[in-house]
Amino acid sequence: MRMFERCYNYINNFLSNILNCNKIKFLSKQETANFIAEDKDKYIASLSKSDLIARRINNKRTYLIHSYNSAIDFTIEDKQKLIYASKEADKFLSIVPSKYISNYLITNIKWRFAVTYSKNYEYGLSHTRSNIIFLSSSIMNVELNKLIETLIHEKVHLYQRLYKTLFNIALFREGYRVANLRKEEPLIRANPDLDEYTYRNPSGVKMMYRYKTYYPSSIFDIEYNNNEQEHPYEEIAYNIANQYSNKNNDNDDNIDIDSINNDLYNYCYN
Ligand SMILES: [Zn+2]
Repeated sequence: MRMFERCYNYINNFLSNILNCNKIKFLSKQETANFIAEDKDKYIASLSKSDLIARRINNKRTYLIHSYNSAIDFTIEDKQKLIYASKEADKFLSIVPSKYISNYLITNIKWRFAVTYSKNYEYGLSHTRSNIIFLSSSIMNVELNKLIETLIHEKVHLYQRLYKTLFNIALFREGYRVANLRKEEPLIRANPDLDEYTYRNPSGVKMMYRYKTYYPSSIFDIEYNNNEQEHPYEEIAYNIANQYSNKNNDNDDNIDIDSINNDLYNYCYN
Protein backbone atom coordinates (compact mmCIF):
# COMPACT_ATOMS: atom_id res chain seq x y z
CA MET A 1 0.00 0.00 0.00
CA ARG A 2 2.81 2.42 0.93
CA MET A 3 4.50 1.53 -2.31
CA PHE A 4 1.27 2.31 -4.16
CA GLU A 5 0.92 5.67 -2.39
CA ARG A 6 4.50 6.63 -3.16
CA CYS A 7 4.00 5.75 -6.79
CA TYR A 8 0.74 7.68 -6.90
CA ASN A 9 2.31 10.77 -5.34
CA TYR A 10 5.33 10.57 -7.60
CA ILE A 11 3.17 10.44 -10.72
CA ASN A 12 0.86 13.16 -9.43
CA ASN A 13 3.75 15.52 -8.66
CA PHE A 14 5.37 14.73 -11.92
CA LEU A 15 2.20 15.49 -13.85
CA SER A 16 1.70 18.76 -11.96
CA ASN A 17 5.19 19.85 -13.00
CA ILE A 18 4.48 18.95 -16.57
CA LEU A 19 1.20 20.85 -16.59
CA ASN A 20 2.99 23.93 -15.35
CA CYS A 21 4.98 23.94 -18.51
CA ASN A 22 1.88 25.30 -20.16
CA LYS A 23 1.77 23.32 -23.37
CA ILE A 24 -1.08 21.07 -22.27
CA LYS A 25 -4.21 21.83 -20.30
CA PHE A 26 -6.61 19.14 -19.07
CA LEU A 27 -10.03 20.58 -18.34
CA SER A 28 -11.57 19.39 -15.08
CA LYS A 29 -15.03 17.83 -15.02
CA GLN A 30 -16.45 21.18 -13.84
CA GLU A 31 -14.66 23.23 -16.50
CA THR A 32 -15.90 20.88 -19.22
CA ALA A 33 -19.47 20.94 -17.87
CA ASN A 34 -19.38 24.76 -17.73
CA PHE A 35 -18.08 25.04 -21.29
CA ILE A 36 -20.83 22.78 -22.65
CA ALA A 37 -23.53 24.46 -20.53
CA GLU A 38 -22.51 27.98 -21.65
CA ASP A 39 -22.58 26.92 -25.32
CA LYS A 40 -20.71 30.12 -26.24
CA ASP A 41 -19.91 28.82 -29.72
CA LYS A 42 -23.69 28.14 -30.09
CA TYR A 43 -23.03 24.61 -31.32
CA ILE A 44 -25.92 23.03 -29.44
CA ALA A 45 -28.10 26.06 -30.18
CA SER A 46 -27.41 25.51 -33.90
CA LEU A 47 -28.60 21.87 -34.01
CA SER A 48 -31.55 21.29 -36.34
CA LYS A 49 -34.67 19.24 -35.57
CA SER A 50 -33.17 16.34 -37.57
CA ASP A 51 -29.87 16.63 -35.60
CA LEU A 52 -31.88 16.22 -32.38
CA ILE A 53 -33.92 13.30 -33.77
CA ALA A 54 -30.63 11.62 -34.82
CA ARG A 55 -29.53 11.97 -31.17
CA ARG A 56 -32.91 10.62 -29.93
CA ILE A 57 -33.52 13.82 -28.00
CA ASN A 58 -36.66 15.98 -28.04
CA ASN A 59 -35.24 19.45 -27.58
CA LYS A 60 -31.99 21.43 -27.29
CA ARG A 61 -32.40 22.12 -23.57
CA THR A 62 -32.59 18.38 -22.79
CA TYR A 63 -29.54 17.71 -24.98
CA LEU A 64 -27.58 20.49 -23.29
CA ILE A 65 -28.30 18.99 -19.84
CA HIS A 66 -27.59 15.46 -21.07
CA SER A 67 -24.28 16.70 -22.54
CA TYR A 68 -22.90 18.67 -19.61
CA ASN A 69 -23.83 15.84 -17.24
CA SER A 70 -21.53 13.57 -19.24
CA ALA A 71 -18.39 15.63 -18.40
CA ILE A 72 -15.80 13.66 -16.38
CA ASP A 73 -12.23 14.08 -15.11
CA PHE A 74 -9.19 12.57 -16.80
CA THR A 75 -7.49 9.77 -14.86
CA ILE A 76 -3.75 9.96 -14.22
CA GLU A 77 -3.28 7.17 -16.77
CA ASP A 78 -5.26 9.15 -19.37
CA LYS A 79 -3.09 12.21 -18.74
CA GLN A 80 0.14 10.27 -19.09
CA LYS A 81 -1.03 8.72 -22.31
CA LEU A 82 -2.17 12.08 -23.72
CA ILE A 83 1.02 13.92 -22.77
CA TYR A 84 3.03 11.30 -24.62
CA ALA A 85 0.64 11.14 -27.59
CA SER A 86 0.44 14.92 -28.01
CA LYS A 87 4.20 15.18 -28.00
CA GLU A 88 4.41 12.53 -30.72
CA ALA A 89 1.66 14.32 -32.67
CA ASP A 90 3.60 17.60 -32.49
CA LYS A 91 6.80 15.86 -33.58
CA PHE A 92 4.97 14.64 -36.69
CA LEU A 93 3.15 17.94 -37.34
CA SER A 94 6.44 19.87 -37.15
CA ILE A 95 7.73 18.10 -40.28
CA VAL A 96 4.76 16.73 -42.27
CA PRO A 97 4.72 18.22 -45.78
CA SER A 98 1.37 19.90 -46.48
CA LYS A 99 0.12 22.69 -48.77
CA TYR A 100 -2.52 23.60 -46.20
CA ILE A 101 -0.79 24.13 -42.87
CA SER A 102 2.22 25.91 -41.43
CA ASN A 103 4.28 23.34 -39.50
CA TYR A 104 5.51 26.08 -37.19
CA LEU A 105 2.09 27.53 -36.38
CA ILE A 106 0.34 24.20 -35.82
CA THR A 107 3.10 22.85 -33.59
CA ASN A 108 2.81 25.91 -31.37
CA ILE A 109 -0.93 25.61 -30.74
CA LYS A 110 -1.54 24.71 -27.11
CA TRP A 111 -3.28 21.39 -26.36
CA ARG A 112 -6.50 21.71 -24.37
CA PHE A 113 -8.32 18.45 -23.66
CA ALA A 114 -11.79 17.71 -22.29
CA VAL A 115 -13.30 14.27 -21.71
CA THR A 116 -16.90 13.04 -21.56
CA TYR A 117 -18.33 9.70 -20.57
CA SER A 118 -18.82 6.99 -23.18
CA LYS A 119 -21.26 7.89 -26.00
CA ASN A 120 -23.51 10.22 -24.00
CA TYR A 121 -22.36 13.40 -25.76
CA GLU A 122 -21.92 13.59 -29.56
CA TYR A 123 -21.89 9.76 -29.78
CA GLY A 124 -18.49 9.83 -28.04
CA LEU A 125 -16.86 11.02 -31.31
CA SER A 126 -13.66 13.06 -30.98
CA HIS A 127 -14.21 16.65 -32.07
CA THR A 128 -13.16 20.24 -31.38
CA ARG A 129 -15.05 23.26 -30.10
CA SER A 130 -13.40 26.65 -29.65
CA ASN A 131 -9.76 25.80 -28.76
CA ILE A 132 -10.60 22.50 -27.01
CA ILE A 133 -10.28 18.90 -28.18
CA PHE A 134 -13.15 16.77 -26.86
CA LEU A 135 -12.42 13.08 -26.33
CA SER A 136 -14.59 10.31 -24.89
CA SER A 137 -13.60 7.84 -22.18
CA SER A 138 -13.65 5.03 -24.78
CA ILE A 139 -11.01 6.62 -27.08
CA MET A 140 -8.56 6.47 -24.16
CA ASN A 141 -8.46 2.66 -24.55
CA VAL A 142 -7.41 2.58 -28.20
CA GLU A 143 -3.83 1.69 -29.09
CA LEU A 144 -1.30 4.50 -28.85
CA ASN A 145 -0.74 4.98 -32.60
CA LYS A 146 -4.48 5.32 -33.14
CA LEU A 147 -4.67 7.90 -30.35
CA ILE A 148 -1.77 9.90 -31.87
CA GLU A 149 -3.51 9.78 -35.27
CA THR A 150 -6.71 11.09 -33.66
CA LEU A 151 -4.82 13.95 -31.97
CA ILE A 152 -3.18 14.92 -35.28
CA HIS A 153 -6.61 14.99 -36.97
CA GLU A 154 -8.14 17.08 -34.19
CA LYS A 155 -5.21 19.49 -34.02
CA VAL A 156 -5.63 20.21 -37.73
CA HIS A 157 -9.21 21.24 -36.86
CA LEU A 158 -7.90 23.59 -34.14
CA TYR A 159 -5.54 25.10 -36.73
CA GLN A 160 -8.41 25.53 -39.22
CA ARG A 161 -10.38 27.49 -36.63
CA LEU A 162 -7.48 29.55 -35.26
CA TYR A 163 -5.94 30.37 -38.67
CA LYS A 164 -9.16 30.31 -40.68
CA THR A 165 -8.24 33.00 -43.23
CA LEU A 166 -4.83 31.45 -43.90
CA PHE A 167 -6.36 27.98 -44.24
CA ASN A 168 -9.21 29.12 -46.50
CA ILE A 169 -6.76 30.96 -48.79
CA ALA A 170 -4.87 27.65 -49.16
CA LEU A 171 -8.17 25.88 -49.99
CA PHE A 172 -8.93 28.45 -52.70
CA ARG A 173 -5.40 28.21 -54.12
CA GLU A 174 -5.78 24.41 -54.38
CA GLY A 175 -9.12 24.65 -56.22
CA TYR A 176 -11.82 24.34 -53.55
CA ARG A 177 -14.76 26.73 -54.01
CA VAL A 178 -17.49 27.84 -51.63
CA ALA A 179 -20.87 26.45 -52.78
CA ASN A 180 -23.39 27.69 -50.25
CA LEU A 181 -24.06 28.59 -46.63
CA ARG A 182 -24.54 25.40 -44.60
CA LYS A 183 -27.66 26.81 -42.96
CA GLU A 184 -29.33 27.05 -46.37
CA GLU A 185 -28.85 23.33 -47.11
CA PRO A 186 -31.86 21.22 -46.06
CA LEU A 187 -31.10 18.13 -43.92
CA ILE A 188 -27.37 18.94 -43.61
CA ARG A 189 -25.73 17.10 -40.70
CA ALA A 190 -24.18 19.24 -37.95
CA ASN A 191 -20.44 18.96 -37.29
CA PRO A 192 -18.68 21.35 -34.88
CA ASP A 193 -15.35 21.02 -36.75
CA LEU A 194 -16.51 22.80 -39.93
CA ASP A 195 -16.92 26.42 -41.02
CA GLU A 196 -20.24 27.93 -42.11
CA TYR A 197 -20.00 26.95 -45.80
CA THR A 198 -20.44 23.96 -48.08
CA TYR A 199 -17.74 23.57 -50.77
CA ARG A 200 -17.06 22.07 -54.19
CA ASN A 201 -13.81 20.10 -54.36
CA PRO A 202 -11.24 20.80 -57.14
CA SER A 203 -13.16 18.35 -59.41
CA GLY A 204 -16.33 20.41 -58.94
CA VAL A 205 -18.12 17.82 -56.77
CA LYS A 206 -20.17 19.27 -53.93
CA MET A 207 -18.97 18.05 -50.53
CA MET A 208 -21.73 17.56 -47.98
CA TYR A 209 -23.27 14.94 -45.70
CA ARG A 210 -27.01 15.19 -45.33
CA TYR A 211 -29.53 13.00 -43.57
CA LYS A 212 -31.46 10.54 -45.74
CA THR A 213 -34.74 11.60 -44.13
CA TYR A 214 -36.13 14.24 -41.82
CA TYR A 215 -36.24 11.50 -39.16
CA PRO A 216 -32.72 9.98 -39.24
CA SER A 217 -32.17 6.86 -37.13
CA SER A 218 -28.71 8.13 -36.05
CA ILE A 219 -26.09 10.71 -37.06
CA PHE A 220 -24.74 8.05 -39.45
CA ASP A 221 -28.04 7.81 -41.38
CA ILE A 222 -26.69 10.03 -44.18
CA GLU A 223 -26.20 10.28 -47.94
CA TYR A 224 -23.36 11.88 -49.88
CA ASN A 225 -21.93 12.29 -53.40
CA ASN A 226 -19.77 9.37 -54.62
CA ASN A 227 -17.08 8.83 -52.00
CA GLU A 228 -16.73 12.48 -51.17
CA GLN A 229 -15.74 13.72 -47.76
CA GLU A 230 -18.12 15.85 -45.75
CA HIS A 231 -16.11 19.08 -46.09
CA PRO A 232 -12.57 20.18 -47.07
CA TYR A 233 -11.73 20.63 -43.36
CA GLU A 234 -12.41 16.91 -42.80
CA GLU A 235 -10.71 15.80 -46.02
CA ILE A 236 -7.48 17.60 -45.15
CA ALA A 237 -7.51 16.58 -41.46
CA TYR A 238 -7.90 12.92 -42.56
CA ASN A 239 -5.21 13.20 -45.24
CA ILE A 240 -2.64 14.61 -42.81
CA ALA A 241 -3.47 12.07 -40.07
CA ASN A 242 -3.35 9.21 -42.63
CA GLN A 243 0.21 10.18 -43.49
CA TYR A 244 1.07 9.43 -39.86
CA SER A 245 -0.66 6.04 -39.84
CA ASN A 246 0.95 5.03 -43.16
CA LYS A 247 4.37 5.86 -41.73
CA ASN A 248 3.84 4.09 -38.45
CA ASN A 249 2.24 0.76 -39.36
CA ASP A 250 5.20 -1.24 -38.09
CA ASN A 251 5.78 0.65 -34.85
CA ASP A 252 5.91 -1.20 -31.57
CA ASP A 253 3.13 -0.14 -29.24
CA ASN A 254 4.84 -1.38 -26.05
CA ILE A 255 6.41 1.66 -24.44
CA ASP A 256 7.63 1.51 -20.86
CA ILE A 257 6.74 4.21 -18.42
CA ASP A 258 10.36 5.27 -17.66
CA SER A 259 11.06 6.10 -21.27
CA ILE A 260 7.81 8.06 -21.41
CA ASN A 261 8.77 10.02 -18.32
CA ASN A 262 12.15 10.95 -19.73
CA ASP A 263 10.53 12.07 -22.94
CA LEU A 264 7.99 14.11 -21.04
CA TYR A 265 10.67 15.82 -19.08
CA ASN A 266 12.53 16.81 -22.22
CA TYR A 267 9.33 17.94 -23.86
CA CYS A 268 8.51 20.25 -21.04
CA TYR A 269 11.83 21.74 -20.15
CA ASN A 270 13.69 21.97 -23.44
ZN1 LIG B 1 -12.72 15.71 -38.12
